[in-house]
Amino acid sequence: MANNTLIGRINMDCPICKMFHEVEERERMASVMMKGEKVFYEEHFYVCTNHYKENGETTGGEFKNREFKNGEFKNGEFKNGESKNSEFKNGESKNDGSDNCEFQTADLMNDNQMAARNAYRKAHNLLTSDEIVAVRENYGLTQVEAARLLGWGEATIARYESKAIQDEAYDTMLRILKEDPLRAIAFLDKNSDRFPETKKMQIRTKMVEKLDMYGKELLSRQVFASEYIKFSVPSDFNGYKLLDIDKIESVVSYFAERIADLYKMRLMNLLWYADAVFFKTYSNSMTGLVYRHELMGALPVGHVSLTNLKNINVHVEEDYVASKYHFYPNTTLQTTALSKNETTVLDAIIARFRNYDDPLLVSCIQEEAAYTQTTPGAIIPYSLAKKMRVF
Ligand SMILES: [Zn+2]
Repeated sequence: MANNTLIGRINMDCPICKMFHEVEERERMASVMMKGEKVFYEEHFYVCTNHYKENGETTGGEFKNREFKNGEFKNGEFKNGESKNSEFKNGESKNDGSDNCEFQTADLMNDNQMAARNAYRKAHNLLTSDEIVAVRENYGLTQVEAARLLGWGEATIARYESKAIQDEAYDTMLRILKEDPLRAIAFLDKNSDRFPETKKMQIRTKMVEKLDMYGKELLSRQVFASEYIKFSVPSDFNGYKLLDIDKIESVVSYFAERIADLYKMRLMNLLWYADAVFFKTYSNSMTGLVYRHELMGALPVGHVSLTNLKNINVHVEEDYVASKYHFYPNTTLQTTALSKNETTVLDAIIARFRNYDDPLLVSCIQEEAAYTQTTPGAIIPYSLAKKMRVF
């Protein structure tokens, strides 16, 4: 039983001993062939403990190998990839003498199939079934309405939410729907003949609402991203990582939460240290930002649009001579956006520079190879971070 864990107990009609009693629900890692590749997922199953007590052991800990066709399963086609075959009929297992104390109900099998498909989706950077549900519910759409909106067959969304993996092209359209209310409205206009007039107006109102809500955020991101079009392949300039705006927003908020009076010059130099130290350790940057050698240290390309991102919490303080950008944490961001490796690097930088005033921080960066071996205005190659002195 070493390879599986007890999740809970539930009373049910047990198909193994044909009695109503308490059975165990257990969980283990399983694998399945899906679209020609092996996918690992958490599989749940029930164990008849009556049987368990009689025999003193179960084979429930074995690693399971199953084969699904194109990510779709059908009852009866659910085959065990090992030599021992167990057939599933109407949710009951037909025993072959080895798996004879464990079984799955039809519901549990569906959940397992869903878990396997979502594992495949995560590995291929496709939206999971829950994320697909969230995309359409964001606009208050039923499955059929969402399919009509995107110009698809009416059952397509229902299939993707329950039993099939979407193709890349379909995933792209769902992501557009998710991220861009303006293009969602364009989809609605294009397929307007598929909706009754009142329904169409209702959906449109919802989309305009969303556009007001996060359209401005989207626009600010697009402006910033447009400054990185030149850096759209991994290189020594971006630290072999493409611009990651979510990451930048999280890093800025993380610094602002821990450093009092965080102003722009300090933040920009700390961002460089974050990316450079991460690069020195892991050979790729944290945020994908590209930095230039400037008078007061390192300054990211597009720093003005970066500051204007809607998720960056910045207050502009005016005095007689200049505007000062004061950064604060953004409590609405997901705290899970940063990995353990990333927060470890950020914490080290904060510990090192927390008590440095601006001139000291600037002089520190000016002594780095990144600065001494580049000319004013030039892009600082990440490879120079490997020669960093202070970390
Ligand atoms: Zn039983």
